[in-house]
Amino acid sequence: MKHDIIVLGAGMVGVGCALHLQARGQSVALLDRRAPGLETSYGNAGIIQREAIAPYALPRDLGFLLSGATNQRVDVRYHAGDAARMLGPLWDYYRNSAPEVYKQISREYETLIALSLESHTQLMNDAGANDLVAGQGYLMLYRTERELQSFFEVADERAKDGVHHIKLTGADVAREEPSLVGAFAGAVRWTDPVAISSPGDLVQAYARLFEQRGGAVHLGDAMTLRKTDAGGWQVDTADGQTLEASQVVVALGPWTTQLTERFGYTAPVIPKRGYHMHYTRLPGKPLNSTIIDAENGYVVAPMKDGLRLTTGAELANADSPRTPTQIDAAEKIARQSFPLGERVDAEPWMGTRPCMPDMKPVFGPVPEVPGLWCAFGHGHQGFTLGPVTGELLAAMMTGATPRVDVRPFSPERFG
Ligand SMILES: Cc1cc2nc3c(=O)[nH]c(=O)nc-3n(C[C@H](O)[C@H](O)[C@H](O)COP(=O)(O)OP(=O)(O)OC[C@H]3O[C@@H](n4cnc5c(N)ncnc54)[C@H](O)[C@@H]3O)c2cc1C
Repeated sequence: MKHDIIVLGAGMVGVGCALHLQARGQSVALLDRRAPGLETSYGNAGIIQREAIAPYALPRDLGFLLSGATNQRVDVRYHAGDAARMLGPLWDYYRNSAPEVYKQISREYETLIALSLESHTQLMNDAGANDLVAGQGYLMLYRTERELQSFFEVADERAKDGVHHIKLTGADVAREEPSLVGAFAGAVRWTDPVAISSPGDLVQAYARLFEQRGGAVHLGDAMTLRKTDAGGWQVDTADGQTLEASQVVVALGPWTTQLTERFGYTAPVIPKRGYHMHYTRLPGKPLNSTIIDAENGYVVAPMKDGLRLTTGAELANADSPRTPTQIDAAEKIARQSFPLGERVDAEPWMGTRPCMPDMKPVFGPVPEVPGLWCAFGHGHQGFTLGPVTGELLAAMMTGATPRVDVRPFSPERFG
């Protein structure tokens, strides 16, 4: 079957690309080995992070680096063998987290985050998916006064760039979240972000919109992609069809470079895996907002399937064996403060944030491979950034001028 463009990967990024290419009049086929939105875009914390105008830097203080060496932190752990192979990219990540470099990276990152919420809002309206909004804003909760005060400064800085917040004392937290137990110094309530009750359902709602507008969704293995003699591209579907197009977008999240490597392009992805588990709600003990326990590095989010606890980062390849020890460690702490009932899932879910050493996503034409494009590397905010990435990439692919300068996100900076 012939199309203008094939998009490989139906996570939030791939679906965002497919919808925006379609909106520009392209005939688009979307292919994934599973139904849309079942990998990392399914299991995340579900926050459309309009406040995240600075990407997630590597903490550079010695205390963090030394405590990480024991591999017992709740927020960050690693597989020694996999992490050893990432030393080069991790060193670049460390250097890019130095204040001056990080400031410039954040300026560039902000141009995407600033458009993220309006981009989702438009799609949610079009997809009739507003019932998936669980709440407005979320809490960054602090246990110690020192950390709280230092985060108040971060919030005040972001306010200068139009990001809104409310500062909460410990007493305010107790009033807003009466089911929390413990002594908290206070919190920052970011008021712009939107919490989603089921991130996978939102990707699926967007994919349905794409189909309603005439797009085709196929199951199949993206690794069957090949060039044709005529200079186009072909890929096989699971039901025996061959899809053909002159242009292809590779949006396979952490698996993207496995495919692009075959065509001579690679980039140093730092995979940061995360786990989640759902818990039943305790009667009479509601949780009103999504809350990040900032000093312990986990999130508790009220969701459709229960209270979802998501963990911090595990440095390990996407396909290495699962080691969900961070869930156990985070649950132990969370149970002392949050109203968590019984575990709901038989096994912890696992997904992989595809992070880049310079913390910025990668999208645009794959260098020296005509007709091949990519969109990946969205790290901690790919659920937030999928639609705006799609909008910008679609503009580039159809010869229009993107709304922001896309050069900082070019695949050319690697490879
Ligand atoms: C615990 C956790 C919490 C997070 N919380 C948030 C949050 O609150 N807000 C936020 O913005 N971001 C969050 N993130 C990050 C976000 O989830 C990711 O950045 C985002 O989901 C990446 O989207 P993607 O479309 O690039 O990748 P994915 O969603 O992983 O999609 C890649 C797709 O490629 C497909 N694929 C792979 N290989 C093949 C193949 N060979 N053939 C066909 N298809 C293939 C997969 O099936 C998958 O559907 C979180 C991540 C984690 C792990």
